[in-house]
Amino acid sequence: MFILLLGAPGSGKGTQGKILAERMGLPKITTGDILRAAVQAGSDLGREAKKFMDEGKLVPDSVVLGLIKTELDKPEAKEGAIFDGFPRTAAQAQLVDQTLGERGQRLSHVLLFDVPEEELIRRMRARAAQERRSDDTPEAIKTRLQVYQRDTAPLVAHYAQRGVMHRVPGAGTIEDIATEIKRLIGR
Ligand code: ADP
Repeated sequence: MFILLLGAPGSGKGTQGKILAERMGLPKITTGDILRAAVQAGSDLGREAKKFMDEGKLVPDSVVLGLIKTELDKPEAKEGAIFDGFPRTAAQAQLVDQTLGERGQRLSHVLLFDVPEEELIRRMRARAAQERRSDDTPEAIKTRLQVYQRDTAPLVAHYAQRGVMHRVPGAGTIEDIATEIKRLIGR
């Protein structure tokens, strides 16, 4: 089963994705984590990605499409996975659709995390104090929210058409939201 987590930065995809992955025994593929690890390691990929990430901009598709393809082709992701942080652009969505389609697979569920913008900003600021991520500065937070609206929010219409989308209310405790997700996907 392939499940896609869609939502603005700070909407809780990472937290709920972790719970869901453990509960369902599925691997979670998180492009943000992979890119941050590449930055830490100082690899070519990391060097290329860092400036975009620090500014809160998307790492260009020319870099990310290859990374996504590599992840999807890994043996552990052949039968199912949870996608966190991608697809984020139309080209990424097309790559995911095509790769799964070639194997006779499709997304089973798209979970859209719906959280008001004031709450997103509040959460990212709180996290900035704890995690010290280089893209949790006020300017980068603003850019990340704008980029989400411009490049990623249009994917909502793309997936809504297919009837696999569920809206997850982002307000509530971590436990309440996990229970709601269980109800929405029926397992
Ligand atoms: P958030 O969604 O909270 O901003 P992520 O960890 O998902 O955090 O992403 C952090 C940064 O990593 C993004 O702002 C972007 O620069 C980069 N990134 C992650 N995933 C992608 C992707 N699929 N395409 C392009 N850039 C990405």
